[in-house]
Amino acid sequence: MLQHNRHNTNLIMSFITALALVVSISTSAYADTLNPYKIKAAIKRAYDDYKNIKEGANADYIPALAKVDPKIFGIALITTDGKVYTAGDLKTEVSIQSISKVFTMAKVMEESSPEAIYNNMGVDATGQVFNSIVAIEQYKGSEMNAMVNPGAITATSMVKGSSYDDIWNKILTYYGDFAGRKLTVLEDIYKSEAATNQRNQALAMLMFAYGHIKGDPLQATDIYTKQCSVGVNTQDLAAMAATLANGGKNPLTGKQVISTKHVPEILAVMATAGLYDDSGKWLYQTGLPAKSGVGGGLIAVSPGKFGIAVISPPLDEAGNSVRAQKAIADISNALGGNPYAVKPR
Ligand code: GLN
Repeated sequence: MLQHNRHNTNLIMSFITALALVVSISTSAYADTLNPYKIKAAIKRAYDDYKNIKEGANADYIPALAKVDPKIFGIALITTDGKVYTAGDLKTEVSIQSISKVFTMAKVMEESSPEAIYNNMGVDATGQVFNSIVAIEQYKGSEMNAMVNPGAITATSMVKGSSYDDIWNKILTYYGDFAGRKLTVLEDIYKSEAATNQRNQALAMLMFAYGHIKGDPLQATDIYTKQCSVGVNTQDLAAMAATLANGGKNPLTGKQVISTKHVPEILAVMATAGLYDDSGKWLYQTGLPAKSGVGGGLIAVSPGKFGIAVISPPLDEAGNSVRAQKAIADISNALGGNPYAVKPR
């Protein structure tokens, strides 16, 4: 009888604990933050607040980028359960630019290993601009990362393949798997950058001279230039970010694009260097691993919750989209997206 009672008491206690858990989950973080109405309101507010600001300027060191409409402004957020929320321009494609660096690095991690990245160009911040030669010279091409140009071109050189086309097709297909649709190159951007990328060729030559690039540095630079010219719209970028937020599985297509075990390392490099020498400031404000591109795109990842992207071409001094930084920071902070912000027990 005593046994029986204790058994019952244990059962009741477990039931109460489970009930308390359900209640706390539904009333705290999740329901509180990822409520569809809240998401829609946060996106609308950011869109309205920033659509008319005039700060920043298009990148012009790649001539074709100077001609892109600076008024393009689109926001997309995709939750890890595949819900899509948007505002503004969702159709216009811009060149992915440096955001591509994340996904080529991911390809190398998947094909070779995360150690291949760690041991070759490194996973440390440079504190320098994205195309710095000083950053190479300081440690002979080590102790940097795959988010700045020399490390990124080196990562591109590490993608395996029997020919230029083989390597290129692998990269393009891989980006498409993250975006959830087939992507193509914006030829005018590619031609414009290919005609003016002597500095990147020099960076690649130095990385070759220091033994980081093993193959043809000019071929690596050309494939890198092409990968930067891939056209993406705001929803493509949000899907790419959401795939990382969802442990490497695209929440729209259900395809596991990268092994879940590699995602933390990718996010760590994004957090360290995704906004170049302003990465610390960004992390301080948002806590989000993110990556910008000079085409005006910015993606950010709230692990387990959502991926978000904004396209707006005018950039600040560090080469990061002005509107995109403001909009993503506001939206994420309104939704409790900062992974470091936890409530005490
Ligand atoms: N394609 C550009 C370059 O190499 C990418 C730079 C960027 O987006 N920060 O200069």
